[in-house]
Amino acid sequence: MVRNKKILVTGGAGFIGSHLCEYLLDQSHQVICLDNFFTGSKENVRHLLKNKRFCLVKHDVEKPYFFKVDEIYNLACPAAPVWYQKDPVKTVRTSVLGAIHALNLAKKLKCRVLQASTSEVYGDPKVHPQKEDYSGNVNPIGRRSCYDEGKRCAETLFFDYWREYGVDIKVARIFNTYGPRMALEDGRVVSNFILQALNNKNITIYGSGSQTRSFQYIDDLILGLTKFMRTEDFTGPVNLGNPKEFTIKELAMKVIELTDSKSKIIYKSLPEDDPRQRQPDILVAKKELHWKPEVSLEDGLKKTINYFKKILK
Ligand code: NAD
Ligand code: UDP
Repeated sequence: MVRNKKILVTGGAGFIGSHLCEYLLDQSHQVICLDNFFTGSKENVRHLLKNKRFCLVKHDVEKPYFFKVDEIYNLACPAAPVWYQKDPVKTVRTSVLGAIHALNLAKKLKCRVLQASTSEVYGDPKVHPQKEDYSGNVNPIGRRSCYDEGKRCAETLFFDYWREYGVDIKVARIFNTYGPRMALEDGRVVSNFILQALNNKNITIYGSGSQTRSFQYIDDLILGLTKFMRTEDFTGPVNLGNPKEFTIKELAMKVIELTDSKSKIIYKSLPEDDPRQRQPDILVAKKELHWKPEVSLEDGLKKTINYFKKILK
């Protein structure tokens, strides 16, 4: 029988973190949610505050912290380009110092620590689909670099703490994830398109719209992350994403169809270093975690659209 654990989630008041906290509480664990509310908010976890097994702490992971816990999920970091580019130096500090502080705590407590890494470590990939052994094509000096290189350095730290100190690490490379509680105005493609469509405003495609992404629904990701945490003798890195690939134009058309919107598509310039294509190879996740995504883009979008409709009321 699995013992109820005390689990720390950094970045727990964000989009993914709030779903993770909710899931872990549903599994009867105790959860400490640590966040500085930079991109997340108390609103995302307000419904959890009445639970006695939930504790919300305001703290910045740039500074060390101590809680006696059994497991750590390290999610603290802005994820949307608009937000991580607002203060790029802070983004690097959050990734790198945040990783060091999570790892130091795990080393002290001899507990397991999972890093929320990203498909961005592959940069603008020259290998397609991306497998975990592909080392990526990342520009170290561009506007996305604070995030991409910060996350790459965090992965390095995780593997060095594992090799040097035997820390029990897990590194998950998360691909584009969407769902309820995405920040309304974080500039990401799914939230932008849904907002624009619901308001019958122009849908803004950057570039030609032929670039691709693979969109994973939040519930699939939460199952992947928690299954990964429960594996023994497997550090990853492991890709967690939905291998079904769509062009951004296809996404725009789908959102227009599902919202029955009158919006027109307009084209804007492509941001610097915007990856051309992205699709996870998930063979490792299938083999090691016995996991694969189950929610189709259509079903996931319907749930997300309903959430946005409620928020906009
Ligand atoms: P989010 O911005 O909603 O959540 C990040 C949370 O971290 C927020 O609550 C924010 O306030 C908090 N945070 C930021 N800097 C902090 C700091 N210095 N100290 C303490 N808290 C801090 O983003 P998300 O989409 O929920 O992403 C969560 C994690 O997953 C991030 O590490 C991100 O890099 C990773 N990830 C997300 C995606 C995605 O598609 N959403 C894809 C790949 C990786
Ligand atoms: N994008 C777009 N219109 C928007 C927002 C984003 O065409 O209003 C494009 C963006 O240029 C990128 C893709 O959609 O090619 C995904 O962008 P997002 O910021 O969601 O994620 P990321 O680029 O980090 O994968």
